[in-house]
Amino acid sequence: MIRIPSCGVVGLDREIVESVYRILWPKPLKLFTAGPVSCFPEVLEVMRFQMLSHRSDEYRALHRDTVQRLADFLEARRSTVLLIPASGTGFMEASIRNAVSPRGKVLVTIIGAFGKRYREVVEDNGRIPIVLEKPPGEPVLPEELDDALRKNPDVEAVTITYNETSTGVLNPLPELARVVKEHDKLLFVDAVSAMGAADIRVDEWGIDLVFASSQKAFGVPPGLAMAAVSEEVFERAKRIPERGWYFDLLRIRKYLESQWSTPSTPPIPQIAGLNAVLRIIEKMGGKYKWLEMYARRAERIRRGVIDLGLELFAREGYYSPTITVVKAPPGIRGVEVYEAMRRRGFEIAKGYGPVKEYTFRIGHMGYITDEDIDELFRNLAEVIEELKKKT
Ligand SMILES: *Cc1c(COP(=O)(O)O)cnc(C)c1O
Repeated sequence: MIRIPSCGVVGLDREIVESVYRILWPKPLKLFTAGPVSCFPEVLEVMRFQMLSHRSDEYRALHRDTVQRLADFLEARRSTVLLIPASGTGFMEASIRNAVSPRGKVLVTIIGAFGKRYREVVEDNGRIPIVLEKPPGEPVLPEELDDALRKNPDVEAVTITYNETSTGVLNPLPELARVVKEHDKLLFVDAVSAMGAADIRVDEWGIDLVFASSQKAFGVPPGLAMAAVSEEVFERAKRIPERGWYFDLLRIRKYLESQWSTPSTPPIPQIAGLNAVLRIIEKMGGKYKWLEMYARRAERIRRGVIDLGLELFAREGYYSPTITVVKAPPGIRGVEVYEAMRRRGFEIAKGYGPVKEYTFRIGHMGYITDEDIDELFRNLAEVIEELKKKT
């Protein structure tokens, strides 16, 4: 066992630690959230170390190892994997500012709240969104995307939310990517709640920029954003003025290539946490075994919902591997289920976006055991019965 220097200078004042914990954790909760999610114990453990410089050889070794492991996981050998201090939305902004011309057009596909955020990011950066929107619960279908691209041949890029966290729908990304490439457009993928749980093959599918956040399916605390970025994006960036400083992808790549670090200070503990998760994945038998674990967990949760006589919100065949959105029974509001479960020690997720009122969500991400899931459903069954009696 290596001894890691702790943060205590002259021993540890337990009282101070306890008073902070009392604010954060007045009572224990089991997390079935949409993010941040429950972290793996190895992750929490590995993040408890005394800080070191992000220009040190030790930090560079960590950054390099993490980037290489993530590139393997994403099958992104022709792209560049970037880790930056930001939440996932940072890369949403970066994709537009670095790779779309000023006043350029972007085809934004929307199947819920996070697709809408992409549209706002396009607009707020002075680019022009062309919107392909589906009703909540529905995915984007390849023929619809093909049609939209035929009608709008002048768009420079297409954005896709891989997994729409507000509706629990997983878009058919491989098929959609094929359409985008047939039309020779850039493809930006919001995989914030997909990466780590749904398959992503960056090279094979021809994705130009796919991004995520540490606090979702990898089960790491928030503060770290990751992306795989194609050569084409960097080439375009060279011709785009006023990319800004913080999210300038060329600057970020320069620091990666010259010193395995970042232009501004990275969240070092989160990177150590991500490194630990990528090692857990390896130990579990690799990417596809790990994704199977997520698929089985999602299946178990959907079965639990159906066994209670409740309905899933997403269109069949497009169920999310990371979050299940459930229609609340008639006469019951989603938030009532959320609150009753919280009183019993389970933090599920409230409905989000346009379907907020009449849905609640069960997150499957991070550190969750089968026993936790069974216990969740025993409680949910009782909660639903109690609420039904009241209506
Ligand atoms: C959570 C989420 C985001 C926002 O991620 P941040 O890390 O908070 O920026 C964006 N898109 C999707 C699909 C999400 O689930």
